[in-house]
Amino acid sequence: MFSMPPIKKISVVIPVFNEQESLPELVRRTTAACELLNRDYEILLVDDGSSDDSARLMSEAAMAPGSHVVAVMLNRNYGQHSAIMAGFSHVSGDLIVTLDADLQNPPEEIPRLVEKADEGYDVVGTVRQNRQDSGFRKLASRMINRLIQRTTGKEMGDYGCMLRAYRRHIVDAMLHCHERSTFIPILANTFARKAVEIPVHHAEREYGDSKYSFMRLINLMYDLVTCLTTTPLRMLSVVGSVIALMGFMLSVVLVVLRLAFGPQWAAEGVFMLFAVLFMFIGAQFVAMGLLGEYIGRIYNDVRARPRYFIQQIVRQENALSQEETKP
Ligand code: UDP
Ligand code: MG
Repeated sequence: MFSMPPIKKISVVIPVFNEQESLPELVRRTTAACELLNRDYEILLVDDGSSDDSARLMSEAAMAPGSHVVAVMLNRNYGQHSAIMAGFSHVSGDLIVTLDADLQNPPEEIPRLVEKADEGYDVVGTVRQNRQDSGFRKLASRMINRLIQRTTGKEMGDYGCMLRAYRRHIVDAMLHCHERSTFIPILANTFARKAVEIPVHHAEREYGDSKYSFMRLINLMYDLVTCLTTTPLRMLSVVGSVIALMGFMLSVVLVVLRLAFGPQWAAEGVFMLFAVLFMFIGAQFVAMGLLGEYIGRIYNDVRARPRYFIQQIVRQENALSQEETKP
């Protein structure tokens, strides 16, 4: 029968970017939550090139006697998702939980995620219950959520919340993706067989400000869209065809009216010029769409995502075991 391996060890991955005020409380509360699990665990703090005291606090936490903290230092700021990927490459657990360092995702929810994953899910997502973000952020994320639902066809209520749990094979599959810009929750979903969402609490940011400015948020949105699909490139040809068609129809109308009412009506040829121009604009868009098709294919080849993903191979006991078949 198809079954998930048991979860023996939990790895918590937390990206940290200038979070010195919340770090002590974060480590304390995360450790307390993990102690409740009665399993082995590790807490990977990834320093994303902080310029404040975060790195020092992290290495102190890692060096403390009996600590389960592992500090991973990056040389500069690479962004939240790259930092999480860096953490992924060094996890040793069977279930990997990601979390924000700003305590907006309460670490106390970790046991609930683990419990849900125990039921046999690959990915446990979360939906923020009482979201404590500004109206603008809420609106932006509602737009993004709708876009994702339309393009992936997967029902996922809240992609913005990073409090999530992934099984080891999902993380391994994500590490096989070589693209530079990724959006982890969506990438994980493309490899998941069984995903589920649970409601979690969401707290206000207590210390510091959001590390995402408006421009970085837009950048993140582009990461998210391009991570999903190259449809926007394809839209160019559709838009171009529509414009070219409209331009053509307009010129037919103009020619007919010009013949009917004479050159005065057509402003001595200016209207005709417009008609020709519209057709050319449309043709240009079609050509851009064609370029887009090529670029989209190049993009897909360059990021070289695995074409398929085998989660597990089930065999008879007397056949080769899974370990032996691994290349
Ligand atoms: N973060 C990071 N690198 C960045 C920006 C953010 O590692 O370049 C981390 C940050 O320390 C926090 C998490 O990503 O742990 C989420 O950031 P933030 O709370 O600012 O985002 P928001 O909650 O506003 O979406
Ligand atoms: Mg936050």
